[in-house]
Amino acid sequence: MTPSSLQELYVEQLRDLYDAEHQIIKALPEMIEAATSESLKQALRSHLEVTKAQASRLETIFEKLEEEPGGEKCKGMQGVLQEGDSLVGEIKDATVRDVAIIASAQRVEHYEIAGYGTVRTYAGILGDEEAGELLQLTLNEEKDADQELTTLAGTINEGAAVKSVESEGITRTRTKRIA
Ligand code: FE
Ligand code: ZN
Ligand code: FE
Repeated sequence: MTPSSLQELYVEQLRDLYDAEHQIIKALPEMIEAATSESLKQALRSHLEVTKAQASRLETIFEKLEEEPGGEKCKGMQGVLQEGDSLVGEIKDATVRDVAIIASAQRVEHYEIAGYGTVRTYAGILGDEEAGELLQLTLNEEKDADQELTTLAGTINEGAAVKSVESEGITRTRTKRIA
């Protein structure tokens, strides 16, 4: 369906996010499995639970709109997840793999942040206050998840940098943080 009004575009974007959340729910268990760092595993596990709640939050919004949640495929999220999956799958070194998982997960979060920021704003313009509040809640959770990944990257990237220095014999002072 081609949207011809802001209201229709709003519903289309909500469906896109609904599909994106379900793709993430499917992808996260594999990322958790591939991760080595216990704190990274834990962060991904808790975001999986948060993600399930975000999907039901969208269902609440669709119910109130009397619209069906299905029917839209988020090709963008599919691409982000596929790219992350094929990269992570190729990496043998556990620390470098963790770094790549963080990089991929942060792309996911940023893509969601863009989508939720948009629908939250549309909800405001269209006077859908209740939905606006729910979408803001999800937006905050995505930003928190991104922030947590940045914090984790601080330690895990540092570990990966130290390891590359050791294997390449470069002096420690020349290393830079990756993120
Ligand atoms: Fe999400
Ligand atoms: Zn999309
Ligand atoms: Fe997320």
